[in-house]
Amino acid sequence: MNGYDPQNIFAKILRGEIPCHKVYEDAHALAFMDIMPRCDGHVLVIPKMPSRNLLDANPEALATLMPAVQKLARACKAAMAAEGISIEQYNEPASGQTVYHLHFHILPRWEGVKLKPHGAEMAKPEVLAMLAEKIKAALASSV
Ligand code: AMP
Repeated sequence: MNGYDPQNIFAKILRGEIPCHKVYEDAHALAFMDIMPRCDGHVLVIPKMPSRNLLDANPEALATLMPAVQKLARACKAAMAAEGISIEQYNEPASGQTVYHLHFHILPRWEGVKLKPHGAEMAKPEVLAMLAEKIKAALASSV
């Protein structure tokens, strides 16, 4: 396993060097829309602390990240009127990991609706912006 590359795209998002459709931020976590969503409302939750993936993550950093994963799972389910939520998380290329900063995929699910292939198609920015607003509204009303 290679180490952590601070030039990975999520590290650049965390430093504000490239934009994202942000839906949530706290002291430990950032959540934003996946630009190649596998379903409507596909959100990524990442820790602020650098780690390549789950395998090298500091257990204390993981413990501070998981409440945000749960918060976003609940908000995405409510905002998207989803029937369920899948959480996906990949470690190393053989598993399908393509960005080497730990992240959890939040995937709203409906009976009979299959996920699109991983990283297949870019979403329109205006659609991501609209979905981000819906998820932010669900987060605000869940407080
Ligand atoms: P993984 O295969 O788990 O490493 O997935 C990386 C995910 O990051 C994919 O679902 C990509 O669509 C997504 N992604 C890549 N670049 C960006 C970006 N700049 N903003 C938001 N999502 C991204």
